[in-house]
Amino acid sequence: MKARLADVERRIEAACERAGRERADVTLIAVSKTHSLEAIQALQTLGVRDFGESYVQEWEGKAEALSDAIRWHFIGGLQSNKARFVTGRVALIHSVDRKSLIKALARRSEELVEVLLQVNISGEESKGGVEPGDVASLYESAVARSGLRVRGLMGMAPYADDPEEARPYFRRLRECFDVLRAFVADSFPDEEASLTELSMGMSGDFEVAIEEGATLIRVGSALFGERIYDA
Ligand SMILES: *Cc1c(COP(=O)(O)O)cnc(C)c1O
Repeated sequence: MKARLADVERRIEAACERAGRERADVTLIAVSKTHSLEAIQALQTLGVRDFGESYVQEWEGKAEALSDAIRWHFIGGLQSNKARFVTGRVALIHSVDRKSLIKALARRSEELVEVLLQVNISGEESKGGVEPGDVASLYESAVARSGLRVRGLMGMAPYADDPEEARPYFRRLRECFDVLRAFVADSFPDEEASLTELSMGMSGDFEVAIEEGATLIRVGSALFGERIYDA
């Protein structure tokens, strides 16, 4: 695991270098779904602070067993009736893609809930996310709720063997982000400074994502090895 982390780190640094960006501008989120408490603790010992999970029940079990020092990211599809389990307990929810979920998150929370809007950049039905043309409208419904703060956008490229194939999708998300920032600067200037995060890039394509402007990368198998799902 130490060797895998060192390799990922080296690749992040090289991508930052190529893009003329600082290493500190990119946060590595270790996606730990299906992986053990021991594996998470091992990475934590090696200095990783941010972990991503996709399933509420699995994440809850882990959060209860592990240190409070972990910053949890909820990256999976979230049902509105499960919203109250994550609010106030995760640092960032990456997968907000509809008004009903925004409503559920705001209603359930006493503390400010920080979220990303998930955008469907691939056009694939299975990926989830709001259509690029509907981002501003979803943003408006979030900004109308006092308990919620939108920090940026999240997206996924279609699976491909060649990471270069992801580049146009990441570029599209980056463009979406620029358009949203211009809209927010105009319409909600107080919110502009909060809108800084672009969550894109996984094990197969995080270097390309960094080159295209990712501030948060979600890396699972390159750190933990392959996921084995229980039947
Ligand atoms: C599982 C998952 C990842 C990590 O995938 P790897 O290919 O293992 O790096 C990243 N983002 C989301 C939304 C995921 O569900």
